[in-house]
Amino acid sequence: MDFGFNESQRMFRDNLRDFLEKEIEPLVEPQEKKGPMSKDEAIDLMRRFKKVGIGFDLESLKDLGSDPFTIGVMVEEMFRVWPSAAALVALSFPAGLVVMGSEEMRKRWTERVENNEVIGCYAITEPEAGSDNRAMRTSAILDGDSYVVNGTKTWISNAPVADLCLLVANDQNGERVFLLVEKEVSPFDCSDLHKLGWRAAPTGEIYFDNCRVPRENNLMTMIASTMGDADRIRELGGDPAKVSDIQSSRFISTALNMGMENIIFAFLRSGMALSAAGISQAALDASLKYAKERVQFGRPIGKFQLIQEMLYNMTALTETSRLLGYKALWAAISGDPQARMYSSLAKGYACDAAVKVAYDAIQIHGGVGLSDEYPLERYFRDARMLTIPDGTSEIQKLIVGRELLGKGFAAYA
Ligand SMILES: Cc1cc2nc3c(=O)[nH]c(=O)nc-3n(C[C@H](O)[C@H](O)[C@H](O)COP(=O)(O)OP(=O)(O)OC[C@H]3O[C@@H](n4cnc5c(N)ncnc54)[C@H](O)[C@@H]3O)c2cc1C
Repeated sequence: MDFGFNESQRMFRDNLRDFLEKEIEPLVEPQEKKGPMSKDEAIDLMRRFKKVGIGFDLESLKDLGSDPFTIGVMVEEMFRVWPSAAALVALSFPAGLVVMGSEEMRKRWTERVENNEVIGCYAITEPEAGSDNRAMRTSAILDGDSYVVNGTKTWISNAPVADLCLLVANDQNGERVFLLVEKEVSPFDCSDLHKLGWRAAPTGEIYFDNCRVPRENNLMTMIASTMGDADRIRELGGDPAKVSDIQSSRFISTALNMGMENIIFAFLRSGMALSAAGISQAALDASLKYAKERVQFGRPIGKFQLIQEMLYNMTALTETSRLLGYKALWAAISGDPQARMYSSLAKGYACDAAVKVAYDAIQIHGGVGLSDEYPLERYFRDARMLTIPDGTSEIQKLIVGRELLGKGFAAYA
């Protein structure tokens, strides 16, 4: 077992840190005070990240995907500096699905995806279907060559600025269907939601009113037609002879067992754990610095044992979150049948931990910790955001309970 980063992971991290410090940090406070990014601001930000190889075009995805832990490093470092920007970029992942689309779809998007100019969102939550997403009512009824979509999605990250929406709906048979909805082909309306933290990140509701989505935008159809087309596989840099190896791989069999939604959640939740580790690290770093500088009773406050106890707790929580996050990411990528359990364990633990770490960081800073002249109050607000999306902390506990004990012990039907 190797707990260190290898040379290329270290290089990627150092380069990203340098970029974040020089190019992204100066944008943080002004934009956070201003509120949700406009579309132009969001695209400007996305374009900047392309300089460090972060994007959803095929080349960037191949580079990032060649070593999955690089994705973990990326998430952790981006959340350490600016959670709103990190959420905007991470949740644009549906842009990466365009490569599997029809020729027309690829024509419409490829150049913009290559320039990092496409914003995506993932929409499952509804006003009456939050933790219990089986209560989802949005329908996608097949009518000729298109699905007719009706329903409302809420709390959708990036919705107000999104070009592409990976939508989860019920089809005419009551089965789950995943549609890649292109806003310019299948228009939908949005409104804004304002929130405690991640203030620069746009969040909103989406309204589908008889929205017609081409049948070929069904994600399963897109995957199947790409896998079945040898020329396409070669164009994507793959080997058609190896498709059956992929289809029978441990990853695919675990993914099929877990279901599409749960495999997406396994990745999102591992990412959320590492996002939490990033915020915790930022709060811990600031506290270590302040504990050495701030003098009371004639000594730096870092010499007081009660301050050292808080630093101990913060370090233990941050390190544990990081370890659980990488373990969960490894489980999801390697097709470990326990991927669901590890991702929920990591998400639940690390997101609660980040709130505790940010709380203590404010305590160590005393009054200035509460001032918006310092980033501590933002760390606290941003950490507080983590315990709700992608399954609340309570739901993560129930998933872990069910995975540990077996299906018969599910605490919710
Ligand atoms: C900042 C942010 C970004 C988001 N981004 C997205 C996004 O991009 N896409 C998307 O689809 N959704 C997104 N969401 C929605 C998010 O996934 C839901 O808010 C979440 O699943 C909880 O649903 P809810 O808010 O309706 O709470 P509810 O489900 O109503 O829960 C309310 C409370 O009841 C508890 N509870 C519910 N059921 C149980 C149970 N069985 N046992 C014990 N306690 C229970 C919950 O833990 C919680 O404490 C986002 C949310 C936020 C806050």
